[in-house]
Amino acid sequence: MVPFLDLKAQYHTIKDDILAAIERVLESSQFVLGEAVEDFERRFAIHSGARHAIAVNSGTSALQLALLAAGIKPGDEVITTPTTFVATTAAILYVGAKPVFVDIDPKSHCLDPARIEAVVTPRTRAILPVHLHGLTAEMDPIGEIAARHGLVVIEDAAQAHGARYRQRPAGSMGDLGCFSFYPGKNLGAYGEGGAVVTQSDDHARTLRMLRDWGLERKHRHALKGFNFRMDGIQGAVLGVKLRHLDAWNDARRRHAARYDTLLASVRVARPQPPAHCHHVYHVYAVRLGERDRVQQAMQAEGIATNIHYPFPVHLQPAYSDLGYGPGDFPEAETAAREFLSLPMYAELTDDQIGAVCRALESALCG
Ligand SMILES: *Cc1c(COP(=O)(O)O)cnc(C)c1O
Repeated sequence: MVPFLDLKAQYHTIKDDILAAIERVLESSQFVLGEAVEDFERRFAIHSGARHAIAVNSGTSALQLALLAAGIKPGDEVITTPTTFVATTAAILYVGAKPVFVDIDPKSHCLDPARIEAVVTPRTRAILPVHLHGLTAEMDPIGEIAARHGLVVIEDAAQAHGARYRQRPAGSMGDLGCFSFYPGKNLGAYGEGGAVVTQSDDHARTLRMLRDWGLERKHRHALKGFNFRMDGIQGAVLGVKLRHLDAWNDARRRHAARYDTLLASVRVARPQPPAHCHHVYHVYAVRLGERDRVQQAMQAEGIATNIHYPFPVHLQPAYSDLGYGPGDFPEAETAAREFLSLPMYAELTDDQIGAVCRALESALCG
């Protein structure tokens, strides 16, 4: 039996530190924001190569507040990818803006910069690339297009804690970077959590107000804000786990290299990160035909897999009113049919990786 993810295995490696950190929060009674969250924000900003990190209650809230801080308003258009979790699209709609999709690059599975300028209109205000599976989008060409048209860049780095593009950390390259600390992410809380990182003092100030009811100071609501604050316990857990993030990402990269070796002669397309990208393998997805049959055959052998994601956002019923349909983004649609995510977490063993690869190979022959 190989599970897709094993959060308990990780917990057991850090249990004493986690329990001590949670106890400190309970003793301090700083249950919402407070010192544990502030300490985590300071260290996460440094880790992300940003001046500021603003901790919030989810990655979705991070995206929503980043869009608001960037001044995105109803009627504005935001260019993004259909190959993502629905939260990316939902956040754009939450601020009243219109998501405009662009097809993906079939190798990186991220927003294809070559297709962006064709959809820029006078209403376009922002580009929102997603660093899918832990691989950064092509941020230099995206930044050049944004500069040419006066657009804001907001990174969805929810799957890319610690990833780098030409040595620059994910989240630090755009005007604002958004992270999720959902438990299964590379850096996961023990509940919900998220953060926005930014180099801008102004954006940071706005974000701190927006997450806490628009408070400028006590009893003074300068902005129409939200209750998007991070819990003290989540800040404490994340503070402990951040110390291990680089080692855990290195372990993921070693596991990916082992998958690459063992699958070299197997009829699947493996991830192809360009040399200038430091991939952190939130997901190790292969591509293959007959994906559903292979997934079932592997399940029968006790190997759990997953799909990120089986439908691009433009084909989800909830977003059909955006006006897109089948055939609009062929690369995204083909990838969605072929993606299969193999088990990936730092504590995975070589024996488990071997079992996954044998099951995949025999499923393909069956
Ligand atoms: C997880 C995720 C989100 C949403 O984060 P939550 O913390 O679950 O709200 C947004 N975008 C992407 C790409 C994600 O993977």
